[in-house]
Amino acid sequence: MDNEKILLMGEKLQFCMDCQYLGRDWHESDEHIGTDGVEEFRERLCPKCHSLAYVMASAEERGELMIENMTVKNVRYFETSRGVGYEAETNEGSIWNDGRGGATYFRPKYPEYTNQDFGDFIYDELKLESLIDKYEVKNG
Ligand SMILES: [Zn+2]
Repeated sequence: MDNEKILLMGEKLQFCMDCQYLGRDWHESDEHIGTDGVEEFRERLCPKCHSLAYVMASAEERGELMIENMTVKNVRYFETSRGVGYEAETNEGSIWNDGRGGATYFRPKYPEYTNQDFGDFIYDELKLESLIDKYEVKNG
């Protein structure tokens, strides 16, 4: 893995309020110089639309944004000795239920995302299941 990749993975997830881009990378330009009162630095702009409204959200806000952007792409059901489990694939990870009576939870797509990026959403069964319901209403 090259240094640039390692650097990116250590960065916090940021969100663009203009184009909804979510990522750890950014764009810099000489036209946008900021200062913290001591040093000048290049502002971190959205890499997609170069907006300045590219912000570091709190864990909770980030979770909300991730969920808003999330759609289920397909659902796979499987039988277990104790019931039916499922995996619902989304663009950001999978919604899981192992079919053995355990809770439904979210598994972020690694290494782009981590549990921290989603906050409490990881274990929010109501929200997770409502995403699957939305998919099933749309796809019969
Ligand atoms: Zn943007």
